[in-house]
Amino acid sequence: MEIKDYSLKELIQQIQAWNLSQKEVYAYYLSRIESIDSKIQAFNLVEKNIAYWDIHSSLAWVPLGIKDLFCEKWVATTASSHMLEWFIPPYESTITDRLKKAWAVSIGKLNLDEYAMGWSGENSAVRITRNPWDLERIPGGSSSWSAAAVAAWLVPAALWTDTGWSIRQPASMCWIVGFKPTYGRNSRYGVISMASSLDTPGTFTRTVEDAAFLYEIMAWKDEKDSTSLSSPVTIHPDIWKRKDLNGIKIGIPKEYFIDGIEVWVRKEIDASIEMLRSLGAEIIDISLPHTEYGLAVYYIIMPAEVSTNLSRYDGIRYGHMDGIGSDTKKNRTTGFWEEAQRRIILGSFVLSSGFYDAYYKKASAVRELIRDDFAKAFEKVDVIVTPTAPSVAWKIGEKTDDPLKMYLSDIFTVNGSLAWLPGLTVPVGYSLPEDGWTTELPVGLQILGPSLGEEKCFLVGNILEKALKEKIQSKQPNI
Ligand code: GLN
Repeated sequence: MEIKDYSLKELIQQIQAWNLSQKEVYAYYLSRIESIDSKIQAFNLVEKNIAYWDIHSSLAWVPLGIKDLFCEKWVATTASSHMLEWFIPPYESTITDRLKKAWAVSIGKLNLDEYAMGWSGENSAVRITRNPWDLERIPGGSSSWSAAAVAAWLVPAALWTDTGWSIRQPASMCWIVGFKPTYGRNSRYGVISMASSLDTPGTFTRTVEDAAFLYEIMAWKDEKDSTSLSSPVTIHPDIWKRKDLNGIKIGIPKEYFIDGIEVWVRKEIDASIEMLRSLGAEIIDISLPHTEYGLAVYYIIMPAEVSTNLSRYDGIRYGHMDGIGSDTKKNRTTGFWEEAQRRIILGSFVLSSGFYDAYYKKASAVRELIRDDFAKAFEKVDVIVTPTAPSVAWKIGEKTDDPLKMYLSDIFTVNGSLAWLPGLTVPVGYSLPEDGWTTELPVGLQILGPSLGEEKCFLVGNILEKALKEKIQSKQPNI
């Protein structure tokens, strides 16, 4: 068995049993990065020296890829923006700190859409990352690079954030497991902000069990983050022993099964719902009546928060500083890419006096209605399943000229984010090569749980993953 074939949990067990050494594991992943990363371009920084130094400590066991948005003390952290080209944080994010104190070592910083704003990975100021399944296609965004790196076995797992879809959608497009917990479970301290009432750190892994394993270390009541939650996080170990879904109620919201879904996505999602039924789950049709307003609400609240968060990059405290009197306009024009500038303008507009009531306040009220829809639905069902994205990965450049088309692709994930729910994406199927496609392209199923219902997502995801194991293992990216 090759090192890449072990899950994260298995790798740790192998190291603990002295069957593998830490150094061997680290060197293995480093050599994969050196030979493969030039094709997919996932890493902004590879930590060769630091890691070899760290590896002598008894705590440093397994390498993780870290989104270049999590501050690591004295490690360049750029948010893939020219604005932070020279930023070296003097502090460590709570999440990376907790993982490093447990067993992790960072193998490098992964590229992203600038400040995590994007759908396809084409908004990075650094470079475009490619989908390991088809190098002509996007790997999803904004977390594209972490997803691509896990899918191409450059790292056994990666840390990421999800504001509107950034974990669930790239996981779907790269055929791996993406997990975002309830908002507030994982501390945002030391994670560069995009939209503060939505940003949620989470993970990319190859198995659902690995996602839960990381979650149990990461979730923590953090005094440094005022939105951090204190309720217990333990996942009952018996859920991993279960073989069926008897007694589990799964809601299928009619508003998520719309005409615009690509036929092959629909086919695979329908098949996975049938699979859930055959595993014992009761499938219940439900309605989430305010679903259609989700995108509009997200694209008001999110840019409002983005414009506030990015206002700190004035060229004096951060940015292209050239001393007192530095030109803020020049700094922000050259420091931010087009999408960041668009969101600053949109956000400033919806927060401006005279428009605040009509846009931001209204959107906040509708957000409550969306949350109520979910709360009512979860009185009847344990989890809700939907497609993660309406399409498979599209061609690089296909939608770059049309931001609205891009905005629409968030349609199935933003409502869960607005309602602060936990969400898991598991690989369930693939489209077949046709219309000149070179390969199969992955399709993922989204499992949304009630607030703090992470365990239910893991239970359903794990049983489905096991049931689909052969299908999933039979296809691997062509890299
Ligand atoms: N695609 C969404 C956006 O651009 C979500 C990105 C994210 O979750 N970071 O805002």
